[in-house]
Amino acid sequence: MDSKEANVSSQKMKNTIFYSYCIIISAALLIILAFIPPDSAHAQKRTHSVFFEDTDNELNVYRIYGKKPGNTLLLIGGIQGDEPGGFLSADHYADISLAKGNLIVVPRANFQSIVLNRRKINEDMNRKFADEYKSNYETKIVAILKELIAESNCLLNLHDGSGFFSEKWEGPDRNPKQYGQSIIADCESYVNPKTGKVIKLGDMARSVCEQINKNIENPRHRFRFSNHKTIEKRTLHKEQRKSATFYSLYTCGIPAFGIETSKSLQLELKVRHHNLAINAFMESFGIVPETPGLNLDAPELKYLIVSVNNALPVAVKNQQTLNINSGDTITISHIESNYERGLSADIIGYGTINDIRKDTKIKGSTRIVVRKDYYPCGSVYLALNDGRNSSAHGGISVSDAPAVSSSFLSYKVKINNYEQICQNYDRLKLIMGDTFEIVDVMTAIGDPS
Ligand SMILES: [Zn+2]
Repeated sequence: MDSKEANVSSQKMKNTIFYSYCIIISAALLIILAFIPPDSAHAQKRTHSVFFEDTDNELNVYRIYGKKPGNTLLLIGGIQGDEPGGFLSADHYADISLAKGNLIVVPRANFQSIVLNRRKINEDMNRKFADEYKSNYETKIVAILKELIAESNCLLNLHDGSGFFSEKWEGPDRNPKQYGQSIIADCESYVNPKTGKVIKLGDMARSVCEQINKNIENPRHRFRFSNHKTIEKRTLHKEQRKSATFYSLYTCGIPAFGIETSKSLQLELKVRHHNLAINAFMESFGIVPETPGLNLDAPELKYLIVSVNNALPVAVKNQQTLNINSGDTITISHIESNYERGLSADIIGYGTINDIRKDTKIKGSTRIVVRKDYYPCGSVYLALNDGRNSSAHGGISVSDAPAVSSSFLSYKVKINNYEQICQNYDRLKLIMGDTFEIVDVMTAIGDPS
């Protein structure tokens, strides 16, 4: 080996070692990346829990997490079903995005009473937070609400109340016994016996009232703080000792308020006033909404609504196959996905890039690619019946597995710029000078787009 050869081979050796290092480093990086726990605040923006699903008492709980950590505010709407201002306001917060802090939203605590537009079904749900009760569906829901209270730093229980609250007697509709247009707390201030921490409920409520009232023009609709003095002997509101706010304050040690708009106001005003109150409380707890919200969740097709030869439409789920006959006309009328905008459905080899609500005559097996913007988020396969199984429903059926066997492989090609679909092993006639391009390879699984 002369010196030149030796240099070359030592250089090769160095290169090999260098590449080995690179591979080891990359592998190590991948392993490290795989084990870094995702930042929980970023990983989870919101959750939706359903209790007693598909029953008359279905309970939906939405947790919205801010990008930055902070306080958690619990909103309970519809604990008494005939108070729509409260539950319709809460409903708007289920879809909110937050920059800081968290919300737990229970828009409809008592769904059955909402559907029937009644205050209560078996018992008043807002009188079941003390110790003794019968067992009914309200008991089960209250148990869940108690757990949510334990997760929170403050509770707002949203109500529509009678008349207009006033500290002084001004008339039968405006006096200390009325509820409307008030923010209620069970006391002026509360000292936590374990921690010694003082919660100045009166100050908090008055400052929120001031904030809300800036946006309420009619002086007769302005909010006032109503101290129920619930624990005192001479209270006018002994029954409130069994309420959600009383439980939150005296058992869990968190500030809790009843927000009462007046039942006498129009629905829109009630909802707006609830929104004003929630916004003011969010601000006072440092909970910051993000506008507009940011949602980059992976798009996913749920199902397509497709009709064949203008017959009754069928729902075909993502990755299912719609079996039809050669020459059938299909029309995609609806795309259901986790997004509402930016959706298109492309029947490969037919029409244009967006074939929704167009009658398309199908002559060969293909698939429909659904996109959210540029991202393919699902497929539905179209398979032609071979003539043997086409008895029922004119041969139209939906099957779970792609009907095409695993050997199914087809190509989307362009010959002289004209797109067509051909099966694996098909023969294509080309003339010298033709331009030929393979645009897409289509398999039965996944989305090769
Ligand atoms: Zn109420």
